[in-house]
Amino acid sequence: MPATPAWPPKSAPRLFVENPLALGATVVIEGNPAHYLARVMRVSAGDAVVLCDNLTGEYAARVTDAGKRDVTLEVAEHLRPREDVPDVWLCPALLKKDRFDLVLEKATELGAARIQPVITRRCVADKLNLERARTITTEAAEQCARTALPELSEPAKLEALLRDWPEDRRLFFADEEGGGAAADEFVYHEGPAAILIGPEGGFDDAERAAIRAHPAARPVSLGPRILRGETAAIAALSVWMAESGDWLVTE
Ligand code: SAH
Repeated sequence: MPATPAWPPKSAPRLFVENPLALGATVVIEGNPAHYLARVMRVSAGDAVVLCDNLTGEYAARVTDAGKRDVTLEVAEHLRPREDVPDVWLCPALLKKDRFDLVLEKATELGAARIQPVITRRCVADKLNLERARTITTEAAEQCARTALPELSEPAKLEALLRDWPEDRRLFFADEEGGGAAADEFVYHEGPAAILIGPEGGFDDAERAAIRAHPAARPVSLGPRILRGETAAIAALSVWMAESGDWLVTE
């Protein structure tokens, strides 16, 4: 007996939607996502689309109408719950746009629970187009078949970040001037954590002193070579995931 083809097909397009999903619900996709479905993926009635709501998980939906401006679907099957991600925040200082785009994309893929951009004295950029940044994280998650998006916050000035820091969350501070070996610092850490990365020009002395004076802060080294901010963000998150995140494969 030939196996019935899997539904939805692996090739089904994936989209995150704003509103919570439920079985049997009718969903209307508009704007760019609708253009992507109708014009790029050329869906038509009966086709499958995988929808995620970053809350209750991932569903298979069937297109009921593919119009010029919007696509209507019916939610048919609940596929997976929203995945858990390790409770680690990435606090990257703003970088030049294309480099910060890379940080947003890679932090999403690597599973950061939250991205809290930071503004420091030597930042080249001092603002972030949050809607554009949200699109980057959403597309990264869609492309990697994720069911969770990182929280994404408005940039915070370093002083305010330190002033309002949650006392139960360790703030690992990637200091190019030295600190504990990241793997050692991360592996013995239990509980909520965050990783702070400086801008292209690094932290200035006053900032470094203020961070080091914070009770939740722990300086960590990412090795003997100076890394660019985007490299340091990716490397630090990777070491975190390996040492304290969910890369610990249990046989
Ligand atoms: N321009 C500075 C370096 C800034 S690199 C200089 O030449 O000294 C940008 C950020 O990446 C730093 O602020 C730090 O947070 C992180 N970083 C880069 N290399 C690092 C290392 N070897 N150890 C720890 N953090 C590092």
